[in-house]
Amino acid sequence: MLDALGNLKRTNYCGALRATDADKDVVLMGWVHRRRDLGQLIFIDLRDRAGIAQIVFNKELHPEAHKKAEELRSEFVIAVEGRVLRRQKGNPEIATGEVEVMATRLHLLNNAKTPPFQVEEEVTASEETRLRYRYLDLRRPRQHRNIELRHQIVLEIRKTLDELGFLEIETPMLTRSTPEGARDYLVPSRIHHGQFYALPQSPQIFKQILMISGMDRYFQIVRCFRDEDLRADRQPEFTQLDLEMSFPRQQDIFDAIEQVMQRVLALIGVKVSRPFRHIDYREVLRRYGSDKPDLRFGMELHNVTQIFEPARATLHFEGNIQAVVAPGAATWSRKQLDELGEFAKSAGARGVYTVKVTSEGISSPLEKNLGSDALKKLAETVGAKPGDLIVAAAAKDQVQHNDTSLNVAGQIRLYLGNKLNLIDRTKWEFAWITGFALFEWSESDKRWVSAQHPFTGIVEEDLNKLETAPWECRSKGYDLVLNGYELGSGSIRIHRQDIQARMFKALGLTDEQARQRFGFFLDALTYGTPPHGGIALGVDRIAMLLAGEKSLREVIAFPKTTAAQDLMADAPAPVGADQLDELGISIKKSEKGKAVGDDKA
Ligand code: ASP
Repeated sequence: MLDALGNLKRTNYCGALRATDADKDVVLMGWVHRRRDLGQLIFIDLRDRAGIAQIVFNKELHPEAHKKAEELRSEFVIAVEGRVLRRQKGNPEIATGEVEVMATRLHLLNNAKTPPFQVEEEVTASEETRLRYRYLDLRRPRQHRNIELRHQIVLEIRKTLDELGFLEIETPMLTRSTPEGARDYLVPSRIHHGQFYALPQSPQIFKQILMISGMDRYFQIVRCFRDEDLRADRQPEFTQLDLEMSFPRQQDIFDAIEQVMQRVLALIGVKVSRPFRHIDYREVLRRYGSDKPDLRFGMELHNVTQIFEPARATLHFEGNIQAVVAPGAATWSRKQLDELGEFAKSAGARGVYTVKVTSEGISSPLEKNLGSDALKKLAETVGAKPGDLIVAAAAKDQVQHNDTSLNVAGQIRLYLGNKLNLIDRTKWEFAWITGFALFEWSESDKRWVSAQHPFTGIVEEDLNKLETAPWECRSKGYDLVLNGYELGSGSIRIHRQDIQARMFKALGLTDEQARQRFGFFLDALTYGTPPHGGIALGVDRIAMLLAGEKSLREVIAFPKTTAAQDLMADAPAPVGADQLDELGISIKKSEKGKAVGDDKA
């Protein structure tokens, strides 16, 4: 028999009880976390959002409550009336460990089926099961902490930006294609058959229009949608801190974001100093082989192509060779070296060349190709000391206008940094990456494409090269990087219509195409657009890093799988023929002959 909640009022959170609450009469409500029946005494760990409290049911003192407690099972929902007592022997493992509650009355508010996994700090259930039963998974203390931290992060962002004079303004979810260059999620219009809204990949155009509207400082914690290829650290819908300012110097945008990040990190007790360092894009690639370098450790790259040059033909390598020094790895076993080789191949290397530097001398399979003098020179050039292993690699594939060896070596650097425990996990290393090229070469499209998006400003001196030598144009874009992750990117924008039109042309859009896609924006630009710029940061990623989690899914209440599915709500799902009819849509037969959308709703 279930009891009604009636007029019963909760007095405390279970997890908030402390020794100072001793002798108080309390009413607690929550879920049965665990039950131990010792006959005379029944112990219940009662769980709510704040944590766990121990409840004791004593057969002799309160027989009625004790009798009811015999029926309790995991995840039953109960209310307990009782008195807080100091425990004779405390439990230092839990925050409420100094006290327990002697139950006088028990109200059974609801029962529960046996859950598919125990609601514990760590679960062993597969991620698929966890996501299918997300409501149970979210009951875990760890998830509660993550969700609460995320709330605090967002709140701190809002407070900081409000103090800096930014207005939070919402922009449409049902809109048209935006320029981030991913695939759109489309929403068919019922009223206008054959026409579609696109869910925004970002509020980019709207926030620029807000600057044209004189809003001066805008921000939004906003959901963005990109139908991109599946990758472990991506969600089809994700949350950005999106921001735009009028009349800004680059430094003004950096200042605002640095203040936000400083205050957000203070939430987990981390002090970061400002200003963040700035590194030029080319420099960061050359030194770390990545435009999102993990600056928590050194191990910088050395271009050693010259030393390898005489053996180019015998070693069959193309392009450049980069080397890093792995401190203390001269003792690595055959197996470790094989694993390194496997990893390097998966990272796009033709193979790795390793050189052991020991007090006895230098040894390497390369000796027959390069000779011992070259190996000595190599060790000198890269600054290897006895005990170190030099790891060098060339890229398997060459890409026009791109030094692929840098990217390969950058990944090897990260692999070695992890394996050798060189990454100081207590560090929070921010950097602004600037000086990007405006365009990048798209190997698949065989043409120049925007390195960021087509509204990114162009360094004034390079304007005259826009038509003649686009690859030499520098952009006014920047990225914010933290511990090897790109937190986000932004730019000072193009604010002149004539330049924007030239930009579209440089990207190969005809006037007609530009008008068709962005005509309203080109028009808006002609009505007095102030110089403006902004940035967008990934809120999910920030929350993930601060929570110390490895997956974005751990900091999103209802995430999607890497296959873009919501396993709990079972989305995406077919819709009924009547709904499709209303939208004027028919579904093409798939190869298997079964139409998606055939099922009845
Ligand atoms: N809209 C851009 C993005 O989502 C960020 C920006 O330029 O502000 O990447």
